[in-house]
This record gives sequence, structure tokens and C-alpha cells, in this order.
Amino acid sequence: MGNTKEYDVVVIGSGPAGYVAAIRAAQLGLKTACIEKWQNREGKGVNGGTCLNVGCIPSKALLDSSYKYHEAAHDLAIHGISTSGVKIDVAAMLARKNKIIDQLTGGIAGLFKANGVDALYGTGKLLAGSVVEFTAADGSVEQLAAKNVILATGSRPIDIPVAPVDNELILDSTGALEIDAVPGRLGVIGAGVIGLELGSVWNRLGSEVVLLEALDDFLAIMDKAIAKETKKIFTKQGLDIRLGARVVGTEIKGSGAKRQVVVTYQSNDGGEHTETFDKLIVCVGRRAYTDGLLAADSGVQTDERGCVFVDDQCATNAPGVWAIGDLVRGPMLAHKGSEEGVMVAERIAGHKAQLNYDIIPNVIYTHPEVASVGRTEEQVKAAGEPYNVGTFPFAASGRAMAANDTDGLVKIIAHAETDRILGAHIVGPSAADLVQQVAIAMEFGSSAEDLGMTVFGHPTLSEAVHEAALAVNGSAIHIANRKRR
Ligand SMILES: Cc1cc2nc3c(=O)[nH]c(=O)nc-3n(C[C@H](O)[C@H](O)[C@H](O)COP(=O)(O)OP(=O)(O)OC[C@H]3O[C@@H](n4cnc5c(N)ncnc54)[C@H](O)[C@@H]3O)c2cc1C
Repeated sequence: MGNTKEYDVVVIGSGPAGYVAAIRAAQLGLKTACIEKWQNREGKGVNGGTCLNVGCIPSKALLDSSYKYHEAAHDLAIHGISTSGVKIDVAAMLARKNKIIDQLTGGIAGLFKANGVDALYGTGKLLAGSVVEFTAADGSVEQLAAKNVILATGSRPIDIPVAPVDNELILDSTGALEIDAVPGRLGVIGAGVIGLELGSVWNRLGSEVVLLEALDDFLAIMDKAIAKETKKIFTKQGLDIRLGARVVGTEIKGSGAKRQVVVTYQSNDGGEHTETFDKLIVCVGRRAYTDGLLAADSGVQTDERGCVFVDDQCATNAPGVWAIGDLVRGPMLAHKGSEEGVMVAERIAGHKAQLNYDIIPNVIYTHPEVASVGRTEEQVKAAGEPYNVGTFPFAASGRAMAANDTDGLVKIIAHAETDRILGAHIVGPSAADLVQQVAIAMEFGSSAEDLGMTVFGHPTLSEAVHEAALAVNGSAIHIANRKRR
């Protein structure tokens, strides 16, 4: 093959799906390269993808900073702590976020080195026959022959023509992580996970936040009881959530620093409404990103939504080509992509790895957090399966009371005949970590009774999980049990 470099595995994309796949493949003794085109603020190639650069990590950094500000400014008096003159330095908050990004993306470069992964900075394109064309940042082109190629090029925000993103006044989620002063009025199109997280950041820092959601149901794919409780809590926090609000136009008015965006939306009664905002964030979802990735004769098929078509083990229809993460079907979550990366690397190495797609936790990192795993009550009901539900409110948790953090509840659904846990849904403090406890139990095929018989430390928030599991079979201790149906 002349100068063609040869690899066992070439990964295109180094987000949480691609970089994990590359590390695992190298651990298993496969000669591996990972191609990444992302450049940081200094124009240097960096790994980590959306998650580390403009997704999970930076959004959580801003959520944590804004939470601390809000707590210091408003929530400490009840503990007998008086504060005055609490201020937010937005530039310092962004600088801290950027430092975390640099630390983590640099960390992946270190992990690649330690594991012997060749980190190639530039663009990858899949040609026919598992050959990858690599165009380096300096424009030089070379071909890599790979026994296996893993496509992991992720996703990008969906644009809507009625709100064209300029990342000055109308922002996508990436631009929203760079807002450098607290907007007086902030509009958010889309009250999904990302819209709620970003809206919460600025609401805590003092913006008046209005979320315009086209759907009639709030958090439509979540368990209804949890979605209802969550909406109540967020509304109490000051988020103005308008459902059935379809944005039909935007217009920039004013000039210079006084520019604002006027949003027109239609409500279900047919009425047309306008709202004026200092910034508008568009968060209407993400779509798989395949721009320039596939040569016409690569042999890889995409589905009707532009995702690369794969089977349950992430194999595409082209021999030796795999695809993982946001690029393929399933929830667009970092940990789902990472586990697919591990599965594929292990299958390439000849192992029989599988991924349990039924137990993937899903979290909204607001305060309180909203987290779920498994099926909702509505899904179980629609499947016609008999079930029992146990709930426990944080208002009855001693630890939540001690922390003055009593909003929300734990809900566990179990099969009525086998008692096997089918789903857990939590809105409340540390919901992300609590739901993981149930996820582990579910992975081991646990019944609600098994969880109920487990000893939980006292006083912990996890006792709410324990009590909800007991409540499934009418034996919760610290709350009156509902009569069994
Ligand atoms: C604001 C925000 C917050 C989020 N918060 C969370 C969260 O809290 N938890 C969670 O689980 N998920 C969260 N997500 C979703 C999460 O970021 C994605 O699910 C995850 O990043 C997908 O990983 P991936 O590896 O598939 O793709 P990506 O992370 O998108 O990485 C793909 C990489 O491929 C590179 N690439 C693309 N094309 C090429 C090419 N041709 N050649 C070379 N490189 C290429 C891209 O530059 C990119 O670096 C969030 C997303 C956003 C936007």
C-alpha cells in the first residue's frame, strides 16, 4: 500500500464515544489511531468532542457556579448565615469553566499517550474498503488503511429558520455557554434538557427566563408524575415555562448595545404573541453530524433522520465499519456513547460484549436534579403489564430536611407479579446519583423487595430510594402507605 499507514482500528471523532473506544481498543492490544478536527480557542487540536468542549462539562461548570451564587445570595439565611454584597463576576465564572475544559481535554491527550493511541488532529473521511483519508490541520493528506473503522462524529445543534443563530443575540447551546453578562430577559426556545439547564443558569444569576416549548406536554418522554412535579418546582423557582408555544418568527430591533430580539409565537388557542428578549437561546435538539464524513462509495447507509444505520452491536452495513454515540440511534447521551465505544472495541478484539440499552440513566442537572432509568409508568401501562408503584417524598427525608432541600420525590415501578424493578424516576436533591443506585439494582435483576431488604445508611438521601422501594409493596416506614390496587 505504498506510504499508507496501517492500523487495526481508526476512530473518527474523539468525543466520549470515540475517545473511550480508542482507549479500550489500545488496551486490548489493537494498533489504534483517533482522528479529531476540533480546535480550541487557540486553534490547537483538542479531544473530548461536544461533551468536554461545549456540552456536559462546561454546562455543569456554569450550573455549579450559578447554584453557589444563588445559594449564597438567597438561601443561607435559614441556616443563620447572613450574607450581603454577594456578586457574580461572569468573566471569572467563564474563565473557571474554560480552565476545566482545558484540564479535561488535555487529560485525554495524556490518556491517549499512556495507552499508545495515535492522536491525529485533522479531518477523517471514510473511503471505500475501510480506508480513511486523513487531512491534517496543515492541509496535508494521507491514507490510513484500517482493519476496522469506528465512526464517532457526534451531533450538532438543529437550526430552525425562524430563529437564525448569530451567536450574538440568537444563540445555540454553544453560544449560550459564552454569554458574558447576565441578560435582563432571556428567551429559550425548547424546554428540553439543555434548555432547562441553560435557562436555570441564568435564572439563578438574575435573568428573567421564559421558555417557549412547542409541545403541549412538559418533558413529554418522562414519567408524567415526575414531569408534573418538576414543572411545579421550576415554576416556583421563577422559570416561566410556556407550553404549546410555537415560535413563528424573530426580529432584531434596536442598535448597538440596545439590540434586542422580538420573538413571535403562536399558542394553542390560535393567538399570536410577542416577547422581547436581550438574548435568545435555541435548544430544539441535535442531529447526527456526518458532513464530509462518508465518500459516496464508502458503503455506509444512513437512516431517514441522518443517523448512521447500525445493528444492536453498532456494526454498520459496511464490513469492518462501526458507528457509535450521537451519530447513531438511541439517546444522545455521553455515557451511552462511551459504553458503545467499549462494546465495539471489545467486539473487534473478539469478545462477546453487549450493551443493555434498557438501563441507561437520563439526567437533567438542574437543582433539584431530575433523573430516570428504565420505563415510565405510562410505558408499562401501555405494554399492558401489571405493576405496582412506590413513591417517597423528600419532604419526609430527615437528611433532605437537614439540608433544607426537600422538593421532589422518588418513584419506583415494579412488576406486580415478579416484583422486578421496571423503572425509577426521581426529582430531588442528588437525583442523578440516587437513580444510579436503582440502575445497579436493575442491572442485577433486583426486585423492589431486594432493594427494600438492603440496609441504607442513615441519615442519607438514599433512604428515600429505600422507602420508595418499600412503598412498592406497601411497607414504607416513614410515610403512610397507599392502599394496593
Ligand atoms: C449543552 C449540552 C449539555 C450536555 N450535557 C450532557 C450531560 O450532562 N450528560 C450527557 O450524557 N450528555 C450531555 N450532552 C450530550 C453529550 O454532549 C453528547 O451525547 C456526547 O457528546 C456525544 O458524544 P459523541 O462522542 O457521540 O459525539 P461528540 O461529543 O459530538 O464528538 C464528536 C467529535 O467528532 C469530531 N468530528 C466530527 N466530524 C469529524 C471528522 N470528519 N473528522 C474528525 N473529527 C470529526 C467532532 O469535532 C467532535 O469532537 C450535552 C450536550 C450539550 C450540547
